[in-house]
Amino acid sequence: MTRYESVLESIGGTPLIRLIRVTEGLRPRVYVKAEGQNPGGGVKDRAALSMLRQAEADGLLRPGGTVVEATSGNTGIGLALVAAHLGYRAVIFTSPHIAAEKRAQILAYGADLRLVDAFVPRDHPDSLRSQAQAFVERTPGAWLAGQYDNPANPAAHEATTGPEIWADTEGRVTHLVSTVGTGGTISGAGRYLKDISGGTVRVIGADPVTSSYAGGDGSQKYVEGAGHFVHPATVDDIWPRSLDTTVIDEYVPVSDQDAIDAIRDLARREGLLGGGSSGVALAAALRLAERLDGDDTIVVLLPDSGRQYLSTYFDETWLRRSGFTSTTDARTVGSRAV
Ligand code: PMP
Repeated sequence: MTRYESVLESIGGTPLIRLIRVTEGLRPRVYVKAEGQNPGGGVKDRAALSMLRQAEADGLLRPGGTVVEATSGNTGIGLALVAAHLGYRAVIFTSPHIAAEKRAQILAYGADLRLVDAFVPRDHPDSLRSQAQAFVERTPGAWLAGQYDNPANPAAHEATTGPEIWADTEGRVTHLVSTVGTGGTISGAGRYLKDISGGTVRVIGADPVTSSYAGGDGSQKYVEGAGHFVHPATVDDIWPRSLDTTVIDEYVPVSDQDAIDAIRDLARREGLLGGGSSGVALAAALRLAERLDGDDTIVVLLPDSGRQYLSTYFDETWLRRSGFTSTTDARTVGSRAV
């Protein structure tokens, strides 16, 4: 469908695009699901719309109400977009360290941005989540989206992302590779693909190397949105309820440098712009592809576009200052020289 009666209808239905250059020499077909082509520029538009509509249906959000969330960026963008369209106020709590482009986009939709720079355990009163929660408690008509524990987040992907991948590959998808932030995307899309394929589709979690999902120590990293990180003072590492761990067959850990190399390579050789978590997913998928056959079809979910990170992963000065190597000359993706 190419005509929509509102911007909300244009959320989802993103293209599946075959990679042909960065996959040279590999046997499986590799497609990317370009979530950066959603109206807000990321996969979280789907979850934002789903959570907000469910809150309306449940009577938690009423006309004149305020949409609130603590987010690493894209959920804030999605909620700000949907709230703007439906006439709600949006108050987004995020870190000053997220990409400047994302912060500017949240403001562009007219949302109120609260920057919280507190590296503290989640239940600490100064944490992003505690501050968002406290704001909701003192604001009449405010509703906290709570993407980490909101079933409407994975439900969005079970209802849309999964079916789109199945339909667009004509049922030929054999592997889904996705990053895991709240777990909404991988749990919902993965669950749908497993159910409809009779359990044959394998679901691979691509994870920043220090993330605790794949067994890392939980220390902080650069890539925004993907992985699970815990403050050293946090005793209990509680995973989000949006994540259904039974859907994930294996994890592939990816370093920040490999993720950055992967998206820079994707831009320069394929003509596709992906964000940092797209690099995590792509590097994992290319590593996986080395051990698969010509009968296999991998779908890699790219959560957002590199346009959000032109001042970081695609900026030579930022790369050098942040201790990364530029890949302008040395073209290496994951463990594979290309
Ligand atoms: N990448 C980016 C850039 C994101 O914003 C998110 C959402 N936190 C993810 C990946 C992970 O998606 P999910 O929360 O559905 O696991």
